[in-house]
Amino acid sequence: MVFTHHTGGALTAAADLVNTDSGDGDRLRDLQALDAFVERHGYPGVRAHDEAELAAVRSLRPRFRRLWALPPDELVAEVNDMFQAARALPQLVEHDGWGYHLHLTVPEAPLADRILVEVAMAVTDVVRAEALDRMRVCAAEDCRDVLVDLSKNRSRRYCSAACSNRVNVAAYRARQRVDEVEGTPAASEQHGHAHADLPEAHA
Ligand SMILES: [Zn+2]
Ligand SMILES: [Zn+2]
Repeated sequence: MVFTHHTGGALTAAADLVNTDSGDGDRLRDLQALDAFVERHGYPGVRAHDEAELAAVRSLRPRFRRLWALPPDELVAEVNDMFQAARALPQLVEHDGWGYHLHLTVPEAPLADRILVEVAMAVTDVVRAEALDRMRVCAAEDCRDVLVDLSKNRSRRYCSAACSNRVNVAAYRARQRVDEVEGTPAASEQHGHAHADLPEAHA
């Protein structure tokens, strides 16, 4: 892994949170959806389970989306604002098999503050690793979802297997149309193999 698991996990969670407010509707509308988000990413510490908690987490989304768009110097200022907004306080902790690592909030801090600080920490790691190019917007034309490329060879371009497949299928169909127009025997022979030639989906 490129970053520590904790950093990779926090960034993936941040992208997931941003992408709940996606082109195809809001997927963080109620407490049930918030529970599912917390379940997916495992935030230890207290939960309020109320509308205020939901509203606070929802309000992180536009803030986190900007992290994928800001130029580096503004990004750094934003990260420092995030630490300050959540009144960060260093804590050495161990949970969920991560081994000892640093948290910057007490477990009693509100969920939204804990998420905010965790993401600020993770982006700090990315800045220090000079790896901001790994925080990308999905390459599918009709998608504005964000992603974190944790692959070794920096090859990830799409937010999801769905986007990767959609783009690959469209490219395949475009090639097929060209083949039909040209109508060469070689082209029709290729059709027989085309499905096997579809690139593997890797999101
Ligand atoms: Zn932790
Ligand atoms: Zn996408």
